[in-house]
Amino acid sequence: MTAKANLVVIGTGGTIAGQGKASVNTSSYLCSVLGIDEILGTIPEAAKLANLRAEQLLQTGSENFNNAHLLAIGRRVAELLARDDVDGVVVTHGTDTIEETAYFLHLTLKSAKPVVVVGSMRPPSAMSSDAALNLYDALAVAAHASSRGLGTLVVANNEIHTARDVVKGNSFKLDAFCSPYGALGVVIEGVPRYYRRPARAHTLDTPWSIDALDTLPKVDIVYAYGALDADTLDAITANARGLIYAGTGNGNVAGHLINPLRVAARRGVHVVRASRTGSGVVLHNGAQPDDEFGWLTVDDQAPQKARLLLTLALTQTSDREALQAAFERY
Ligand code: ASP
Repeated sequence: MTAKANLVVIGTGGTIAGQGKASVNTSSYLCSVLGIDEILGTIPEAAKLANLRAEQLLQTGSENFNNAHLLAIGRRVAELLARDDVDGVVVTHGTDTIEETAYFLHLTLKSAKPVVVVGSMRPPSAMSSDAALNLYDALAVAAHASSRGLGTLVVANNEIHTARDVVKGNSFKLDAFCSPYGALGVVIEGVPRYYRRPARAHTLDTPWSIDALDTLPKVDIVYAYGALDADTLDAITANARGLIYAGTGNGNVAGHLINPLRVAARRGVHVVRASRTGSGVVLHNGAQPDDEFGWLTVDDQAPQKARLLLTLALTQTSDREALQAAFERY
């Protein structure tokens, strides 16, 4: 890296690009209205951290993001990282699904250069908005040599999270983001400090590259509850190649749904037991005889992360053992 890193900041919308009528509007405001140049204009201090170039790729709330949006973001970030005059990329993003886009990038980008995805819980117009500081911190993280090789990072509320683990765990608080094993580090006054590294394979150590992907297999998620019935399950699995079954507790399956899920597996749907609790290990052949039923289990991936991992794994194999191994490795 040169003395000052060259960063590209990609705008995609979200609350960090939002605007409320008054400063008291911390939760009701229009999302995705400010352009990336306007947002960067609120932090002139950032010019001291890095040489910045901005581009607007999308302008929409992240609740709208589908597989095509993920591929579009991934492709653009990959193109930028391949350039010698780019040392890192920051993506501004809605917070709702930031953890999914970040994990998709974490599993597919083929570069050690820092990539940071950042959003905010309050729009720049609100009292005590976290938008400016989160973006400043994200730029500081992306510009710092110590962030190389860590995969895709999510920066929020002074913390640096690995994309693999981070989830949005609250609908309105500033400290909405958490990782079950803790953040990798913190950012204070424009300097990142790391205390741990991601243990699971990512970026350069995965077999998936965005260049090779034009479309993605259909993998759905179903959230278990007592009144879920076989007809609903059958409808959900009708066209899917994979189903993440976000079971209760440690991936439990209600008795009346065992057979429909076995039938789905026999039809070729890759059924994965996960947990709707959002964290914790689901033991393979633990609560259910998965191998006998032709099912898979997550290791500890939350259902929305498991969907992305299975989606990518299915682009290269349909072998059940290989798919199961992916959950243990990434
Ligand atoms: N709905 C917004 C989004 O995810 C919320 C946010 O950015 O905080 O885009």
